[in-house]
Order: sequence, then C-alpha cells, then structure tokens
Amino acid sequence: MSKKQINADKEPDLSIIVSMYNEEESLGLFFDKIFKVLEKIPSYSYEIICIDDGSKDKTFEMLEKYAKKNPVIKVIKFSRNFGKEYGMMAGFSYAKGRAAIPMDVDLQDPPELIIDFVKKWEKGYDMVYGIRNDRKGDTFLKRWTAKLFYKIYNLMTRSPIPYNAGDYRLIDRKVIDAILSLKERNVFMKGIFGWTGFKSCGIKYVRQKRSAGQSKWNYWKLWNFALDGITASTTFPLRIWTYLGSMLSLVGMFYALFIIFKTIIYGVDVPGYASLLVFILLLGGIQMVILGILGEYIGRIFIEVKNRPLYVVDKKVNIDNE
Ligand code: UDP
Ligand code: MG
Repeated sequence: MSKKQINADKEPDLSIIVSMYNEEESLGLFFDKIFKVLEKIPSYSYEIICIDDGSKDKTFEMLEKYAKKNPVIKVIKFSRNFGKEYGMMAGFSYAKGRAAIPMDVDLQDPPELIIDFVKKWEKGYDMVYGIRNDRKGDTFLKRWTAKLFYKIYNLMTRSPIPYNAGDYRLIDRKVIDAILSLKERNVFMKGIFGWTGFKSCGIKYVRQKRSAGQSKWNYWKLWNFALDGITASTTFPLRIWTYLGSMLSLVGMFYALFIIFKTIIYGVDVPGYASLLVFILLLGGIQMVILGILGEYIGRIFIEVKNRPLYVVDKKVNIDNE
C-alpha cells in the first residue's frame, strides 16, 4: 500500500465523499477547511465527490460554481431527496480513489482526522473509523438514544458495529468494492461497513457542533432509521417469537391441565371473567405486535423485490461518462 504503487495515470488516491441536503450555509466553510487539511498531505492526490441529495436551496448552484473553478470537485445531483445513505452509495460508485472517505459537510467530523486515517491506512488497515468519544455537539437525548440503539443492535447481529462509530471513516478500495457488490436497497451503511469484515481500527475524536445550518434529523426519522438498520441486518425480531410463542404455549398447556383437573375435582367455577379478559387482551396485543414485525419485513421484501435503482441522477459536473 505504499505510495509507489500509485498508478501513473490520474486516478486519485483519496475520494472524499460528501452527501449534502440544503447545506448552502455550511458548504463554503467545508471547502475552506478541507483544502487546508489536504494541503498537509501533499503526496496524496484526491477528488471530492459532492452529492446534492435533492436540496431545495442554492446548494447545487454553489457546488457547480466551486466545481467549475476546481476540477477535483465532482458533483452529482440527485433528482430528489433520497437520503444520506444513498448519497454515500452514489459516492462510492463514482469514486475512483484507492480509498474513500465519507464525511458530513457540517464539519462535525473534523477534517484533520483524515491525516490520522491515512497514516493507519498506510500501516495496512483496510478500514479506519472515527469513534466519537465525546459527543459534545449532540444533545443528551440524542446521545442516550444512540447508545441504546448500538446496544440493542449489537445484541442481535453477528457483525456488531463498534460503539459510537459513525460513517466518518477511511475505507480501502477492497471495502468499496465489497459494498458495491451488494444488491440491496435497504442500505444501512454502518451495518454494511461492519458486515464487510476486513482489518479495521478506530480513532477517537471529539464530535464538534454543526458549523452552520440545521441538523436534518428528527426523532421520528431516527426511529425509522433504527428500524431500517435492524431489519436490514438481522432476522432476530422475527425469530424471537418462535421461542416466546413456544414458552407461552407451554405455560398455556399447563394452565389448561390445571383448569381441567380443578373442574373435575371441584366442579365448575364461574368467576374468572377478569383473568380471561386479561389473557385475551394480552395475547391479542402480542399477536398484533408480531404481525407488525412481520409487516416491517414483508414491506422491505416488497421494496427489494421491485429492484428499483437506489437513486436517480439528474446532473453531473466534472464526471466523465463511462
Ligand atoms: N444529508 C443528506 N441527505 C439527507 C439528510 C442529510 O445528504 O436527507 C447530509 C447532510 O447534508 C450532512 C450529513 O448528511 O452532510 C449529516 O446530516 P446532519 O448533519 O443533518 O445529521 P446529524 O449530524 O445531525 O446526525
Ligand atoms: Mg451533522
């Protein structure tokens, strides 16, 4: 992985991938900073792939201006808002680099870390991820819910995601190709990164406050994101009911025997309306939940089966058509 291996042609070493949605305020700050950092590692050539994820503000116009002045800035404009995960996917498929670095535009992921990422990459790691060891920039509730999610997720899957690791990381070409080989639509990037395997390590950093503009997330979106993450990576929620159902049936059987013998010995016992109702409601509720979980998966199977493309590109700047 030494620099001598760099091809003589113009393929860049690093592809920086930035998905943006309504980021006209933070865009300029981002470019100022990122170029300063990349200047510090001059032996690495780079490209910056910006995905305009259907912004409604001036993001694309601004990107176009930057890209016209500087050919290392490449722009892909989506036809509408598809979501950050799809922005990253587009970035990976257009990336030409020997490694890719997906990051946010709001400078919450400090660009200086790229230098450390590259150092570790040189040492032979295929994936170097950032660990947010201090999420000062996030609210208490966001930190707490995030923690809970990582806990639950890791309990259920075989390829756990490192605690507090975000999307900000460096991934080698091997990992990019593994990700691109996936055919699924429900892309939960953090889970996919873990799924690929490969030699990885983490670097701790302090997550900063947003440079400008506003977070695109709210709790309803985060909840759905968590659901997508879990259903994309594990069938545990489906399987658990086999065991819980069996246990309930067993308990039910013993209770039935008990009732039968009680009736034989003591005769019919009319009271019991309350307990009967409680059981019916409880079981009815549990069954509804199970149906809901089935629905979550069936809905996603439906979406996968349709096999639509992940995103639709409207315009491209500085990207030559293959
Ligand atoms: N983003 C995107 N599409 C979306 C929402 C967000 O490309 O639909 C981008 C956004 O512009 C930013 C990154 O994803 O570069 C992270 O978003 P944000 O800062 O809102 O998330 P947070 O840091 O609050 O988790
Ligand atoms: Mg942010």
